[in-house]
Amino acid sequence: MTEGQTLLLILILVYLSDCLIWVKQESVAFVSTWGGRWRLTVPPSWLGNSNGGILFLNPMPPAGRIFLSHLSPISVSPSGICAYNLQTLPSEARPPAQTGQFLSFNKINTAATEGVYLLLNNEKFAKCATPRQAKMLAQLVRELVKASTSKRERIVRTWMQKQFAVDDAALRLEEGKTIIEPVQELNLILFLFLFVFTPTLTILFDLMSLIIPVAVVMVILAVLTGIMFYRAHKQLFPSEGAERFENLIKMILCPPVSIRAADVLSRNLLADYSPVVLAKLSGEQQFVRAFVLDLRHPLKHEISDETAEQTMRWAVDEQLNICLGRHLKPEDLEAPAVREKDSISYCPRCRCQYVVSEADCPDCPGVTLVAFR
Ligand SMILES: [Zn+2]
Repeated sequence: MTEGQTLLLILILVYLSDCLIWVKQESVAFVSTWGGRWRLTVPPSWLGNSNGGILFLNPMPPAGRIFLSHLSPISVSPSGICAYNLQTLPSEARPPAQTGQFLSFNKINTAATEGVYLLLNNEKFAKCATPRQAKMLAQLVRELVKASTSKRERIVRTWMQKQFAVDDAALRLEEGKTIIEPVQELNLILFLFLFVFTPTLTILFDLMSLIIPVAVVMVILAVLTGIMFYRAHKQLFPSEGAERFENLIKMILCPPVSIRAADVLSRNLLADYSPVVLAKLSGEQQFVRAFVLDLRHPLKHEISDETAEQTMRWAVDEQLNICLGRHLKPEDLEAPAVREKDSISYCPRCRCQYVVSEADCPDCPGVTLVAFR
């Protein structure tokens, strides 16, 4: 292998490593692999641990076809907050970092953040999926602490309603697409230059003799992408200065990274919305149904504190109320329409049918089977 080919191989490997994305246990990814409709995409189990898994995105351009949504690491009710969320995603596991600690609002003096951590009274209370989520929760807690007891319920409800606003999410998506598009175009040009044009040149000439002009063009394109990315990011995420700066530096120091700039812009574009909203927008009806059934029949948990449990229940019940009318048909909550041979009961959560009754569903710990009438 010539020096030029080795260099090219390194560039390709750097680029491919940037197509890997870590999806946390409490996050869900919707990806449009070949353009078109985005689908729920789960990392393969062998590429992960209890905290999450690695997803390999299609390396072919354009980037910017991944959207993430994250469950809240805490439950909020008008009486206080609990560092536990009863919800689970298709992985059916909760992140190990959830402690179940409960704090009523009159015991909270300060709410701040440190990276992805939500700090209450200057101590780490919960680990969030992103610094943005941590900031948003800290702000909500500050607002609730300041508010009078009678106003808290309305504030929590409004905050929840916003996460389920499908129309707002659709608007944000449209607005985001327009802002991200120029970055995607530049990403495509750099991709073609590095992985089509330059390899073709190496067939005709020795790359080492062209290394300076190739490097100059590559850096110019990377800097241009960096500037476009910076502007787009500022428009979409005005308060995320640290993320913007960190990614800009990476792009300029390592130009192949800038080919995936649109991923950084798209992945958290809809992260303020509930996973069910993203599923709704992408037409993943099965996910929508599973999400609502999970709210209605949460899996067993280990929290014994009664006030903590009340807050956790209040939070899921409230979200269930928002979802029921909008995202679920009444027949989804009734017994399965087709009864399998010999079955006498079914699981109201996963809808499997069983020949035994009076037991918990083997797949859904804590969910009791329901007998057919
Ligand atoms: Zn089940």
